[in-house]
Amino acid sequence: EKLGRIRVEGEVFPNTLPTFYSCLYRALLFPRKFFEYDEQNQPIYYSPYDGKVHKGVMYTDNGFWDTFRSVHPLFTMIYPEITEGVLQSLINVYNESGFLPEWASPGHRNCMIGNNSLSLITDAWQKGFRNIDAKRALEAMLNQTQAQGPVSSVGRNGYEAYHMLGYVPYPDYFESSAKTLEYAYADWCLATFAKSIGEEKIAEEYFQKAQNYRNLFDPQIGFMRAKNKRGEWIEPFEATEWGGPFTEGCSWHYTWSVFHDVEGLAQLMGGYEVMSQRLDSMFSAPNTFNYGTYGFVIHEIAEMVALNMGQYAHGNQPVQHAIYLYNYLKQPWKAQQRIREVMCRLYSATPDGYCGDEDNGQTSAWYVFSALGFYPVCPGTAEYVLGSPLFQKATLTLPSGKTFEINASNNSLENVYIKHVLLNGKTFEHNYLTHKQIVSGGKFDLKMSNTPNKKRGVEIDDLPYSYTEKKLEK
Ligand code: CA
Repeated sequence: EKLGRIRVEGEVFPNTLPTFYSCLYRALLFPRKFFEYDEQNQPIYYSPYDGKVHKGVMYTDNGFWDTFRSVHPLFTMIYPEITEGVLQSLINVYNESGFLPEWASPGHRNCMIGNNSLSLITDAWQKGFRNIDAKRALEAMLNQTQAQGPVSSVGRNGYEAYHMLGYVPYPDYFESSAKTLEYAYADWCLATFAKSIGEEKIAEEYFQKAQNYRNLFDPQIGFMRAKNKRGEWIEPFEATEWGGPFTEGCSWHYTWSVFHDVEGLAQLMGGYEVMSQRLDSMFSAPNTFNYGTYGFVIHEIAEMVALNMGQYAHGNQPVQHAIYLYNYLKQPWKAQQRIREVMCRLYSATPDGYCGDEDNGQTSAWYVFSALGFYPVCPGTAEYVLGSPLFQKATLTLPSGKTFEINASNNSLENVYIKHVLLNGKTFEHNYLTHKQIVSGGKFDLKMSNTPNKKRGVEIDDLPYSYTEKKLEK
């Protein structure tokens, strides 16, 4: 019943049908239901947060650092019953522990970083989910950014410094630059949520904070890096150095972590062409590394080296949205080619069919979305950025009972490029679909080709959402 909600047909690369359904299966394994039913058949659970029994639902075993990216967006599109339960569960955890969860297993676990619970709430809200008390949700979100929880992964580690300096300083806080970048995105999520419920003042304050990613971008070298509390860059800098101010990655992976403002990042880098070349250089750079503060080769490093795609480390989460960023830079064809290469080279339906940690379905959900031909680069925007569909046909059975059909005619191993697109029979030039366009049902007809169409998706209106106003470039 679950797998059947997405039907794919017409392989253009051998064995991708079993790979697709293996990925979809794994994307649906988590989160785990942590509730049962009482004698009146009402949901009831033991809370790992306050040790009491409550009416309602509780979900667990989910690291939002991984799953905010595309697992939860997949639920909002096709499996709304999971999203509805998760939203209630988030508020229940806040009620019982004073904080939103970030890595539940089954209670607060001290694991990973960020305030990605805010992404889940805002993304669901922007896509029309309303089964939570908005005021209570906003209170929980604000609290998550203004206090440290019972463990450092919950609430906001380094919040005083972040709000005072506009970044988390190093080495006062471990993984400080990764935290800064993720907090800035969370602040954008909070602002977006606040704005949508009419809390303009809070929205304004947090949209400002969401620009804090700028504080760690060094225009001299074009990378995100670490600063100390006096505002000085931490020396020496090595883009290939893992750990320290970064989380399971290096600057090559975190420099792209500005989901909500790719335009702002592009302007910092010096324009679309410069940023596009920087993305290219991630693939052409040697796959060398310095294991930094880890002190040994962590498996994420070993995976990057084994993939042999330069500094591109698809085996771990921080960089998994990066290829899609070409769509913001008026070069969507580069995304189409590289996404197809990743799908065909790095995934298979065999015991070694994953290129790294599967991580609660995130590496799988990346494939599911990418095989359909789009991906939620910035959860909270209700936009899906285009890639290159892997099958000749895909049919989504939507919660409303309607269907959204994706037809990729002339699709083949070589024909990875989008020549032209029709949405419900009309020419479609944008590099993104909206949630509404998909869930309303309809037909998305792509004509594929072996040569890039460099005239499609290159106007300002075709580029996906960014907070910073887009500028026309010569
Ligand atoms: Ca991982």
